[in-house]
Amino acid sequence: MVSIQPLLELQKIDTALLQLSHRQVNLEERAVLTKAKSDLLATQNEHATLTTQLAATKTQITNLEAANKKCEAQIAKYSQQLKTVIAPREAEALQHEIETVRTERSTNDDQELQLLETSERLEAQLSDIVDKNNAGVAAVASATTALSEAIKSCEAEKKSFDGQRQDVAVAIDLKLIKLYDNKRNKRTTPAVADLHGSKCQSCHLDLSVVELSALKKLGAEEVAECPNCDCYLVV
Ligand SMILES: [Zn+2]
Repeated sequence: MVSIQPLLELQKIDTALLQLSHRQVNLEERAVLTKAKSDLLATQNEHATLTTQLAATKTQITNLEAANKKCEAQIAKYSQQLKTVIAPREAEALQHEIETVRTERSTNDDQELQLLETSERLEAQLSDIVDKNNAGVAAVASATTALSEAIKSCEAEKKSFDGQRQDVAVAIDLKLIKLYDNKRNKRTTPAVADLHGSKCQSCHLDLSVVELSALKKLGAEEVAECPNCDCYLVV
């Protein structure tokens, strides 16, 4: 039976490399960054909505103030006219006009008061949102740094494994490497495994006594394979 013991070391490194690449894809830091970015986006949307609402409120206040200036001018004009009219019906009509405009002005004042309260509330909310936004920007920045450091550390680990792999591979017969590569390309589970007791360490199934003794009887040029998962077995 051909000894494939050296391939086992190679397989261990390849398994570690596979686990590493899986870890790199599923880094916790990546999820944290995604969450921080989506939180920040929500805050920015909230900020935009509040800004729009505040601008609309301020426009309404400006319009009401302009309307009240008109009211004041009208009241002044009618009061002036009132001083010069003689006919009582005309005076009555003017007084009625003045009363109407005063009511309008008073309604506008009430409305403006409400809008001023709204505007103050929106400004307070905006100030909170600005703080929240600053915190969000900082959170995204620190999550970005954390992710890039985690990736860097994975890459350093990969480099070290790659180096180990090269050292191990260079000492193995090319024919064995070829066998290993062919087997590896056809599967996702380990291509080479050893037995723990009668258990194959690739498929974790037990080999029967008959199967085990058959492996021991293999010819000098034959490579042992697991009868369950077909991987090469170090016996
Ligand atoms: Zn197996």
